Amino acid sequence: MRGILFDLDGVLYNSEEPIAGAAETVLWAQSQHIPHLFVTNTTSRGRAALVDKLRGFGIHAERHQILTPCNAAAEWLKARNDGKTALFIDPKARVEFDGVPCISNELETGVRSVVLGDMGDGWDYGTLNHAFRLLQANPEATLIALGMTRFWRAQDGIRLDAGPFVAALEFATGRKALVLGKPADSFFQAAVERLGLPACEIVMVGDDIETDIDGSQKAGLKSVLLCTGKFRLSDLKRGINPDAVLKSIADLPAWWERKISDS
Ligand SMILES: [Mg+2]
Repeated sequence: MRGILFDLDGVLYNSEEPIAGAAETVLWAQSQHIPHLFVTNTTSRGRAALVDKLRGFGIHAERHQILTPCNAAAEWLKARNDGKTALFIDPKARVEFDGVPCISNELETGVRSVVLGDMGDGWDYGTLNHAFRLLQANPEATLIALGMTRFWRAQDGIRLDAGPFVAALEFATGRKALVLGKPADSFFQAAVERLGLPACEIVMVGDDIETDIDGSQKAGLKSVLLCTGKFRLSDLKRGINPDAVLKSIADLPAWWERKISDS
C-alpha cells in the first residue's frame, strides 16, 4: 500500500460538518509523504470552492490534488473537441468547463454532448425534458454522466444525486451514458494515472459501498469502507467485501501502520 484516494463527503465531512479526526488523518498522510488525492463525485461546485471548504475544516489541499467528475469531463470534452456541449450542472460548477464550447440554454439542438450532474433543487420537469429533447434531436450526441451516485446525505436528510436523473434519460432515450465519475473504471484510472502508482498499491477510502468500494475494487484498487456518512449496516450484506471496515477516518493511520508493519 503506497497511495490513498480520499472520498470527501461522508469521509472528511458530512455536508457542512467536519468529521472528527479528518484533519489529523490528512495531516498524517502529508507528514508520511503518502501520495494521495481527493476523489469526489461532488458536482455542485468547482475545485477551488472545495479547496476553500476543506480549508474551513483545517484540511490543506491543492486544486490539482482534487479529482471531480466535472474536471474529468472537461478534460474529455477538450480532448475530443468536436462540437458543442449542453451543461445540466449546478451553476457553481460551470467554472470547471471554461474553454469548453457550450450551446446557449434555450436551444434544443446542435450538440455533440449532453452533460448531467447534480443540480439539486435546480431540477424540474422542464429542465429534464430539455435534456431529453436535446438527446432525441441529436442521435449522435453523447450523454455524459458526472457520476452514478444514487443519493447523498444532506443536513436535512438523504437527497437524490445525479444517478437517478441520468437513469431517467437512459430509460427515455434507450441510450447508455458515458460515466465520468465514480464508480466508472475510467474515473478511477484517471486517479491512478495522476498518482503514478500501480492500482493495486492504492487504497480508496470511502463511505459508499457501491461507488467507492465496488467501483474501486473493479478498477483493481484496495478499499476501506468507513462507517460514517451514508454507511448503513446493511451495506455489509451485499456481497461486496472491502479490505477493511473502519469506524471512521480517525482510525485510518493506525490501520495503515499495522498493515505496513505486518507486510
Ligand atoms: Mg462519500
